[in-house]
Amino acid sequence: MIRVTLDLSCSICGHEQFYLPINSQEGTNVRCANCSAFKCKTLDLEKALSAIQRTRSIDRPVAA
Ligand SMILES: [Zn+2]
Repeated sequence: MIRVTLDLSCSICGHEQFYLPINSQEGTNVRCANCSAFKCKTLDLEKALSAIQRTRSIDRPVAA
């Protein structure tokens, strides 16, 4: 797993760092680096990030 800071915040604790799987043995789950709460799948993450980037110029969401 690699620890990265994303433009997302954990729905449980609000942390913005997440562990991403780096190979198939680690699965596809993105987890909060602080409380380990499940966030999303890596496939969904790309969609989530692109959606955030689209909406940011209009109105930044308070909670992801
Ligand atoms: Zn968390």
